[in-house]
Amino acid sequence: MVAANKKVIQMKTSVQIGKVMGIPIKIHISFLLVLILFPIIFSRESVTGFVDVESVPLRYALSLSLTVLLFFCVALHELGHSWVAKGYGITIRSITLIIFGGIAAMDDIPRDPDAELRISLAGPAVSLMIGVFCAIIYLILQNIAQAVQTAMIPDVSHLIWSLAFINVMLFAFNLIPAFPMDGGRVVRAWYAQRMPYLRATRKAVHLGKMIAIIMGVFGLFASPWLLFIAFFIYVGASEEEAFTKASVTLEGVKVSDLMTSDVAFVGDNMTVLELLQVMFGKKHHVYPVTDPSTGEVVGMVAFADIQSVPMDKHNVVLVRDVMATDIISIFDDADAIDALRMMSMHKIRHLLVKGRITGRVAGIVSRIDLIRSIEVLGYSERQNS
Ligand SMILES: [Zn+2]
Repeated sequence: MVAANKKVIQMKTSVQIGKVMGIPIKIHISFLLVLILFPIIFSRESVTGFVDVESVPLRYALSLSLTVLLFFCVALHELGHSWVAKGYGITIRSITLIIFGGIAAMDDIPRDPDAELRISLAGPAVSLMIGVFCAIIYLILQNIAQAVQTAMIPDVSHLIWSLAFINVMLFAFNLIPAFPMDGGRVVRAWYAQRMPYLRATRKAVHLGKMIAIIMGVFGLFASPWLLFIAFFIYVGASEEEAFTKASVTLEGVKVSDLMTSDVAFVGDNMTVLELLQVMFGKKHHVYPVTDPSTGEVVGMVAFADIQSVPMDKHNVVLVRDVMATDIISIFDDADAIDALRMMSMHKIRHLLVKGRITGRVAGIVSRIDLIRSIEVLGYSERQNS
């Protein structure tokens, strides 16, 4: 899997375990569950697992080894994507192993179909290569086992066989032609070589959703796992469409184009009652809060922040008691899409805009402004095309 900036699950719950090609490799907390769950599954199952191994300690040792090797292979798959992406000058910020597999967080893949195609295919190609390599080792071990009768060889060769099988499955699974799988990107790249990027995304998303629905219907009768994957794919496809629409529509649009520069400041020593009076007059959504003694911005306050203050406390509670103090700001010359990304990453509705040259507050940009512009710009784009 490859993830551009947007999907990035808040990675605070991850621990870095090392660095390869200058890319931090991290493990997400959900991975601990995998370390317990997978060995149990492998120890009870016979296709990839070791239920046939008589010695119980050996059975669990093999199951745990397979789990660790499996995720090592997933990391290699992500490194495959990353290696090719680096060749296109894309920065890879991290590779994180989570319960579903791996996520390579990279800056946006340029809208170049050839680059996207190569980057997307690189991961599955690595999985296929490992699969074939393990299959060859397996065959060699089989031959040796026939020549020399050693007790260990059958178990080790079964481990190698499982690794071959799982990597071929990883190869096939990731090439399902639906977002967020690599196959979804391959399909989009194929379409994008023939039509505009946004239309190509819509086509690929449509195909992905169809596949998810078919999988879901099968899943209803066959397996809850399939149903779960179908749901995961459906949501991923919709997200990709929404994000692509936003980023294509907002291309070239700067934060300064969308921000409100008419900003009303309030003092942190104001009471909630006084603040309400300002709000009635100005009718803004959000107000930067300053410390009157220094003039510095110390927080942001919105109507939602004072709703929880009881009526009879309005003239006692101060703005500084209810304001949000984690101010997140962006420069006025930044891309509008980055503002949207920052807001969804921090789960906030407004950003303080600072002038690049002045370093002072230049305005406020809100989520609703961005969403509206996407709608309006997207509408006029459709009229023109
Ligand atoms: Zn991948």
